[in-house]
Amino acid sequence: MPSVAPAPPSPTRSEPETGAHGARLTVDLGAIAANWRSLAAHGAGAECAAVVKADAYGCGIGRVGPALWDAGCRTFFVAHLSEGVAARAALPEAAIYVLNGLLPGTREAFAAHGLRPVLGSVEELADWAAFSGGRLPAALHVDTGMNRLGLPVPEALDRAGDPRIAAAGIDLILSHFVSAEKPEDPVNARQIADFARVRAAYPGLRGSLANSSGVFLDGAGHDLLRPGYALFGGNPKPGSANPMRPVVRLEALIAQVRAVEAGATAGYNGRWTASAPSRLATLSLGYADGFPRAISGRGQALVDGVPCPILGLVSMDLIILDVTAAPAARRGATAVLIGDGLDIDTVGRAAGTIGYEILTGLGSRYVRTYVESR
Ligand SMILES: *Cc1c(COP(=O)(O)O)cnc(C)c1O
Repeated sequence: MPSVAPAPPSPTRSEPETGAHGARLTVDLGAIAANWRSLAAHGAGAECAAVVKADAYGCGIGRVGPALWDAGCRTFFVAHLSEGVAARAALPEAAIYVLNGLLPGTREAFAAHGLRPVLGSVEELADWAAFSGGRLPAALHVDTGMNRLGLPVPEALDRAGDPRIAAAGIDLILSHFVSAEKPEDPVNARQIADFARVRAAYPGLRGSLANSSGVFLDGAGHDLLRPGYALFGGNPKPGSANPMRPVVRLEALIAQVRAVEAGATAGYNGRWTASAPSRLATLSLGYADGFPRAISGRGQALVDGVPCPILGLVSMDLIILDVTAAPAARRGATAVLIGDGLDIDTVGRAAGTIGYEILTGLGSRYVRTYVESR
């Protein structure tokens, strides 16, 4: 696995099209497939699934699903039934589990689309068992610490012989880490031990525990890995070099460049004041594109490789950069907001959030291009 990941190739330029939308989002399907293969290789014999909730972390299930299938992925997880329906359209033969479980009134739709609910309470188990008679597969969620979804460990142990569980067609038992990205957190070892105890009480069921960061924890592999974020280029090992290849690239066009004198302000509420004569560039992209307003005054973009600070407040449709140090900045030139080493984790930190939120927030106003790097 290369430690210095190759950047996704620049898409073939179609400037009038980018100009019409102001910005271009490029998704590298080849990098997603390579990331899946690299995570699968960590599994020591476990199957590697793909978590593709939130429209494949903002990258588009219609393209990402088939790319992962072609790479060899056969099991997928989404959050909502509606996402499962969209995933089914892209993946006619895959096993698709719906993590948020069985909400009242949805069981017919699960059956109609061949989707598998991840059942997380006795009510859900009974609802599904009454409907399916054990003939349709489902998973059982056990809560080892999140207190969010799933049977608490003592209840899962107590109910190991419960006929409602046998009657619900369970073929997989899963749990979810609280802090997998912090390997030093003692909660990981406790969850790994609790999950092993529950599995021992349910012999014959396959088990799944590891999200992206969990893939890198000892003892978390079980039968099925469930990475999401790392497939899309997020760093599953914060604080260490990112072993994944970057997947998304976001570029916006410069609409105007202007010179301002010391003392001039920029943007709403004049939050930035020039301390010296400066050159400012206005980018055709804003928070309505999913680029977070919280990055105001904190993030940067690259113009011809030169880091240029984002000034003042991000507007709905526009961002102002200080391009004093970037002579290449001119009308129609490209600024890179994600890519060329400015990765989603860095952008997330600058915005006071996590790369997950940057990815899943990416809007629909851009031109979208899919490429397949090798
Ligand atoms: C989102 C999610 C995952 C994937 O997590 P990543 O950190 O994105 O790899 C796995 N399992 C469950 C239950 C999830 O909700």
